[in-house]
Amino acid sequence: MRFDFSPEDEAFRLEVRAFFREHLPRDLARRFYIGAHPPPRSDVRRFQALLHSRGWGAPHWPEEWGGTGWSPLRKHLFMDELYRADGLDYGWQGLHMVAPVILAFGSQAQKRRFLPPMISGEEFWAQGFSEPNAGSDLANLKTQAVLDGDEWVVNGQKIWTSDAKMAEWGFFLVRTDPAVKPQRGISFLLIKLDTPGLTIRPIVSIEGGDGLNEVFLENVRVPRDQIVGEPGMGWTYAKYLLEKERTASAFLYFNKRELEKAREIARGQTVNGIPLIDTPGYARNLARVEVDILALEYSVLRVLSHEQNRHNLDAVVSALKLRGSALQQRVTDLQLEALGLHALRFWDHGEGEVIDADEALRWPAFVPGRTAQALIARASTIYGGSQEVQKNIIAKLAFRL
Ligand SMILES: Cc1cc2nc3c(=O)[nH]c(=O)nc-3n(C[C@H](O)[C@H](O)[C@H](O)COP(=O)(O)OP(=O)(O)OC[C@H]3O[C@@H](n4cnc5c(N)ncnc54)[C@H](O)[C@@H]3O)c2cc1C
Repeated sequence: MRFDFSPEDEAFRLEVRAFFREHLPRDLARRFYIGAHPPPRSDVRRFQALLHSRGWGAPHWPEEWGGTGWSPLRKHLFMDELYRADGLDYGWQGLHMVAPVILAFGSQAQKRRFLPPMISGEEFWAQGFSEPNAGSDLANLKTQAVLDGDEWVVNGQKIWTSDAKMAEWGFFLVRTDPAVKPQRGISFLLIKLDTPGLTIRPIVSIEGGDGLNEVFLENVRVPRDQIVGEPGMGWTYAKYLLEKERTASAFLYFNKRELEKAREIARGQTVNGIPLIDTPGYARNLARVEVDILALEYSVLRVLSHEQNRHNLDAVVSALKLRGSALQQRVTDLQLEALGLHALRFWDHGEGEVIDADEALRWPAFVPGRTAQALIARASTIYGGSQEVQKNIIAKLAFRL
């Protein structure tokens, strides 16, 4: 198998690289890389506005709504360069999750109302699916919406709602018909997060960030026309949403970038006068991760070029998530291994700062924030479908167990 990018694709890569080099402010890139969780709202907005000004705010959307019409390979090159430049890959819940659902199943009025402020970075979104007793078993969700005149009245609780505190809107799965089979009684509702009766309570996670939240809904009144598509079709739309971004869960661009940073850290560290990167133990660990990331990249490219038949593709996508998330942990562990005890000094407060600022200044720019990043990477084997759930899917689809 060979993947050769055409001269036009290579020129496109250079064009994207030059854009980020010229237009991405260094202070922004540095804060993104250090990685406050969540990043300051103003930074996220600034970056999205920058992409939008170039016509790259939502490359995967239809051109009619501001998309680019790029091929999957061009989108791949764009993301590769975005990460390489320390750009921000954020706003997923809006641009990549709810937008495709609104585009496919929403009304014209919903498209006109929600898509423009999303692509420009004026409005951000959160995903309200999981509940305390409905994570892997999502169909068990209990949050209920009952129609009362022209409004849905919503009661229940969501949990692990990323970015709810900084988002303006949320898309929620709610039960609108408790009498039918669990999957068939679910609807897809758009709720403004400052609606009376809706309370957001942050959950502070292990690295000190407060990007995760609990969302409590108590008699929240939602206009009837904020349902997407048909009542009872929410499960189908949610499955569509999860299918849209097949290769994103490989975390390929993140893994590639972090590998380079691990290499940089290991070059700067010495053991008995020898650069760590030249010591056999570290070099071996680094090489193992590098080979696996390379294999991941080829698998992603294979999926992008549609070589797989559709049946197997679902299993392959689960395999990408399984491998990609485990690699997130391996590659960030490599960085901590290189930092050694110094890793403890760079504990992120959630503001992109480090505890020992003087010490931080003595280190190359790519070092602070690594500890927080490694801790956050622990969650990658849970969200978007846990490792066990992915293995079940692979067993069922690929091995027919
Ligand atoms: C950082 C982070 C961000 C998140 N962001 C969001 C968000 O924005 N919106 C949102 O709606 N949700 C979000 N989630 C929630 C996420 O989708 C759930 O955590 C995930 O689906 C797992 O559900 P759970 O936590 O209830 O665990 P459970 O489903 O209770 O699983 C517990 C354990 O049991 C295992 N298990 C469960 N079922 C099976 C099975 N059938 N076979 C074998 N093992 C099984 C799991 O693998 C896991 O190890 C986020 C989670 C994290 C960690």
